[in-house]
Amino acid sequence: LGMLERREVSSAELHRAYLEAAAARDGEIHAYLRLVEDGEDGEGGGVPIALKDVISTKGVETTAGSRILAGYVPVFDATVAARCRAAGMPVIGKTNTDEFAMGSSTENSAYGPSHNPWDPARVPGGSGGGTAAAVSAGLAPWGLGSDTGGSIKQPSALCGNVGLRPTYGTVSRFGIVAFASSLDQIGPVAKTVRDVALLYSIIAGRDANDSTTVQLPEPVRLPEDERLDGLRIGIPKQVWELAGIEHGVRASFEAAVDLARGLGAEVGECDLPLSFAYGMACYYLIAPAEASSNLARYDGVRYGPRVEAATYREMVERTRDEGFGDEPKRRIMLGTYALSAGYYDAFYGQAQKVRTLLIREHRDALERFHVLATPTSPTVAFPLGDKASDPLAMYACDLLTIPSCLAGLPGLNVPSGLSQGLPVGLQLIGRQFGENTLFRTGHALER
Ligand code: GLN
Repeated sequence: LGMLERREVSSAELHRAYLEAAAARDGEIHAYLRLVEDGEDGEGGGVPIALKDVISTKGVETTAGSRILAGYVPVFDATVAARCRAAGMPVIGKTNTDEFAMGSSTENSAYGPSHNPWDPARVPGGSGGGTAAAVSAGLAPWGLGSDTGGSIKQPSALCGNVGLRPTYGTVSRFGIVAFASSLDQIGPVAKTVRDVALLYSIIAGRDANDSTTVQLPEPVRLPEDERLDGLRIGIPKQVWELAGIEHGVRASFEAAVDLARGLGAEVGECDLPLSFAYGMACYYLIAPAEASSNLARYDGVRYGPRVEAATYREMVERTRDEGFGDEPKRRIMLGTYALSAGYYDAFYGQAQKVRTLLIREHRDALERFHVLATPTSPTVAFPLGDKASDPLAMYACDLLTIPSCLAGLPGLNVPSGLSQGLPVGLQLIGRQFGENTLFRTGHALER
């Protein structure tokens, strides 16, 4: 992309340059499930973008990383895709994802895993490993991901990018392949906080097609200030007590906290006992429960391939048996069990009550502090295959990202340095609609 230096380039030229970069390197990285060649949007003047394959794109196959959606070509654009196109931004391609965004390494993709550009023997994180790897490897300048329990923040951390999970309700979910509707949020991934803020300003805001969306209470401000005077940052004391955080991750986190102090921020301690004790259990009841309902639409009739059989029931059973991979099947079983008569109150009902307590716990902490800070991932990128056969080890990757997702709060990953030659991410949690404060903080701290 040397041609970027000091001369104007058109959208179409940029689009072509990224397609060439992908043709040269994506055989190794596998960030993309498919590239989009069409030049029809190329003269729009916008910067090209990579879209996670859970985002419906008119006329372009959208599979959510699943065989059960193979060959499905949406007849409409998701609102976020339409907003990008309206801004003149050509779509470079659809990026790889764990099947239905269920996972933390992209190894659950039915189309094979993506690889971390920093070390292709390692995972890029997940579920949005494709977008993260594409941005990290220079195969896209920026992209969109979806985050249910960490799928934007965690892969951004493992690939050394900036990634925002926005406040629930600020970005439309219309046209997104649904996983867990009360948690799913679309958000930007890029190299810098300013780019992320810019992309957020393009996709955010009220959409009549998604009744959970709201108009942003204040316009997006691109961060400029390098100082953090007057900002109060809270660190959950549980972070220091957690056994599973790697030494290098902890060291990078401590350096980020020192940096924040040096830039004028006031750093204090907060307490999130319930979030750390019950966040994971709560998420793994609510998310599968919602998924089991959302995935009921894949019946061999409405979308994708069908396995023919003598009776309707058999056709549905066989289509699902062949179409869904192990992780969606596991979640469907967990979810239908948690919702079943006689167990509903004990599991789903109880999880909803815990979720309310987590919301209150975060609200109390964020009354005292403008921003909370933790590492994003307990570890740096791990080798492919390391956790693939151990669902619980995989779930534990999102220990630090999940609680604030349940609370509906925005979270920003910013690179905070290296450990073992691999990127480490700092997670900043904001108040509801507190994106501008996250951008300001992240801009000063990104490394
Ligand atoms: N890793 C978590 C899960 O598997 C989060 C995934 C996501 O945010 N989409 O559910």
